[in-house]
Amino acid sequence: MLEHRDVYHNYIAGRWCAGGAGAIDVIDPATGDILGQHTLADHRDVDAAVQAARQQHQNGELRSMRPLERGRLVQAMGRYLLDHSDELAKLLTREQGKPLWEAKLEIDGAAQYFEYYGNQASTVEGRSVPLGAGYLDFTELEPYGVSAHIIPWNYPIEMTARSLSAALATGNSCVVKSPELTPLSSRIFGLAADAIGMPKGAINVICGVGHEAGASLSAHPDVNQLVFTGSVATGIAIATAAAQNVVPCVLELGGKSAAIVHSDADLDAFETDLRWGIYFNAGQVCSAMSRVIVHHSRYDELIERAVGVAGSLSVGAGIERKEFGPNMGAMVSEAQCQRALDMVKRALNQGAQCVHGGQRLGGPGAFLAPTVLGGISPNMAIASEEVFGPVLSVLSFDSDEEAITLANSTPYGLVAGVFTRDLDRATRAARQLRAGQVFINEWYAGGVETPFGGYGRSGYGREKGREALWNYVQTKNIAIKTSSI
Ligand code: NAD
Repeated sequence: MLEHRDVYHNYIAGRWCAGGAGAIDVIDPATGDILGQHTLADHRDVDAAVQAARQQHQNGELRSMRPLERGRLVQAMGRYLLDHSDELAKLLTREQGKPLWEAKLEIDGAAQYFEYYGNQASTVEGRSVPLGAGYLDFTELEPYGVSAHIIPWNYPIEMTARSLSAALATGNSCVVKSPELTPLSSRIFGLAADAIGMPKGAINVICGVGHEAGASLSAHPDVNQLVFTGSVATGIAIATAAAQNVVPCVLELGGKSAAIVHSDADLDAFETDLRWGIYFNAGQVCSAMSRVIVHHSRYDELIERAVGVAGSLSVGAGIERKEFGPNMGAMVSEAQCQRALDMVKRALNQGAQCVHGGQRLGGPGAFLAPTVLGGISPNMAIASEEVFGPVLSVLSFDSDEEAITLANSTPYGLVAGVFTRDLDRATRAARQLRAGQVFINEWYAGGVETPFGGYGRSGYGREKGREALWNYVQTKNIAIKTSSI
């Protein structure tokens, strides 16, 4: 069903439709080949998608369904993804660049969101409020209505699943704006909705250019709530549009997250954290471990191990990298690859040392060698700016206080890590770190169950975990005057 087609279409009110803004070529970043085209929504298509969601919300089919049954529908979305994982993973890999095994992992992660939030649908409960004799008072948690989801290209399937699953589970009707760099695999959400009998208009998926369709969606007066993951500049534009319509939004805007590695850390184990932390998805992860702040006594050893990890990775076309292992795919686009390379060059001009990588691979494709930069000082741009590529920056510290100061020295605050055998030291640090999530002795410890989101310019609101459910509901209080007793 996901078979190759020349032009992929938008999915609005249960129908596949062409867009008013033409179509965009979708490029395989490993080869530069055109994979196909995706139709682009104009403001009329955006409006059609919002109206489809609004009508669905007003007719109440999804909203009024018994939550247990709505939860079953949400779970069925996840099962559909898993049933089509093989073909979906190939398409995702071809348009995004990641190794095939990483694409499968992404689909598995996406399915987990539908499973988790499908299970939670019937647990979203209000409370009763005692007002004394003569009154019965209770609260209900109602869906906002039309929930808009603007999706980035680094994990298009998983990021869509993350917010869509919770929004649907709580009874919202959704419009997803897929990323223009990687829109093809998002077709799966329309196919799944059709196949499992999701009420029409509950899921609408449109692709469009960010500053046109994305802007039009975020400013649409009938959108009641927004979720965005991506860059800070776009987040500010979306939050501004949301503020003008007085609707809430959740922003997840990336980071420059640091691992603090103490002198007693287990560096054998830390090699795995390096591998996953900065080279997974070629470093295009908002919560990547893009900085390591290591105690000066272990600095040389850490650099040596980081060079070993980077050097062990085979880099090439994701479609050929089928099995979990020491490998890495292309970056998402030429532009992202060049941007990362320019940031590395600037760091070198500012005095950083490149101890591994730092250049593109020869031949076609957007491949950047796994890179390790040493000798980073906090005043260099690379110490605080998000590269969004496979580039590790290593800094050193002398005292615990200095480590915390360095870790907290960027405008971001998404995640942080502490690596030590001393649990007192780790928990003390966890409380001092300005980040929404702190990993102790394992980068990425956690899962769909654990709340995730940023401090500072990493955004606001929480996704994942039970916390995310509250993004999609508003509280209504109902007070009843009963007969006096
Ligand atoms: P972006 O923020 O511009 O794009 C993300 C999504 O927002 C896309 O769907 C895009 O179409 C949409 N968009 C763009 N402009 C919009 C607007 N004015 N109104 C509404 N929607 C709009 O990100 P990008 O340009 O693709 O990448 C730039 C940088 O953003 C990256 O280098 C990286 O640092 C960061 N980024 C972060 C994440 C993350 O997960 N935190 C994901 C992608 C990109």
